[in-house]
Amino acid sequence: MKETLLSCPVCSHKHLRAFGEATDFTVSNEKFSLTECVNCGFVFTNPRPNSESIGPYYESEEYVSHTSTKKGLIFSLYHAVRSFTLGRKARFVSRFMSGTNLLDVGCGTGDFLSEMQKRGWNVKGIEPAETARLLAKRKGLDVYPQDFLFHGFNNQSFDAITLWHVLEHVHDLEHTIRTLYKLLKPDGILLIAVPNRDSLDAKHYGFHWAAWDVPRHLYHFRAKDVIKLMVDQGFKWEKTAVMPFDSFYVSLLSEKYIHGRYRYFQAFFVGLRSLISAWTGKDLGSSQQYVFRKPRA
Ligand SMILES: [Zn+2]
Repeated sequence: MKETLLSCPVCSHKHLRAFGEATDFTVSNEKFSLTECVNCGFVFTNPRPNSESIGPYYESEEYVSHTSTKKGLIFSLYHAVRSFTLGRKARFVSRFMSGTNLLDVGCGTGDFLSEMQKRGWNVKGIEPAETARLLAKRKGLDVYPQDFLFHGFNNQSFDAITLWHVLEHVHDLEHTIRTLYKLLKPDGILLIAVPNRDSLDAKHYGFHWAAWDVPRHLYHFRAKDVIKLMVDQGFKWEKTAVMPFDSFYVSLLSEKYIHGRYRYFQAFFVGLRSLISAWTGKDLGSSQQYVFRKPRA
């Protein structure tokens, strides 16, 4: 079943217009329409499969982020880079927070949680995909299904909550952000990483840009969209930073979607240009991470 949004998820404005059409290159090859808010310029997948019917669009060998399979060069590369970036992510979170309780929403197989546990954090995770959740549990981690986010924890339980490439997948955006706010302790931090459709690689690849990733990506954020969403719910924006490896990975996938094969050389240069453009402040990166803080009462 598909559902159609009649107002903008960021500013609630009802004046919407067509933005274009993106293709699901990973699973279904179906085309999905994108809608733009006339008021704030936010772009979202619309209509979209509702939360009950989106499951099959995640069922793909190629949807690597939720599994631990290591097959072929691209997967090996992805996993090698991921191991490296885990340490980077952990250090990034620790720069802003030295607390003890961390919740990772959409934790997949729990690699980031394990890394944080090693560094002395008390960790819990939420993961809707059963296979990934069971793998995480097998590592001895406390990982719960999605419903648990809304009913399973006491208010003000966490010093830090992280969502690595998760917010763009969440159907009930407002309810989710409100819940995250409640679950954080005052002065706690919320870290959100999402793709940025204003990046150089996004402009370069147009509707072949891999991070449109419809219909799994319901929202196509720019920095101002993420910040407005969070600030409207009471968070204080503290920091935006580029995620350097995403520009290469997304460019490589985008090359595949246009040319039918991984053109490593071309992808490397687009990724590099995107990164330089982000580092020099011209554009923001392919993916960005944002740090928000819940104000003290
Ligand atoms: Zn809007």
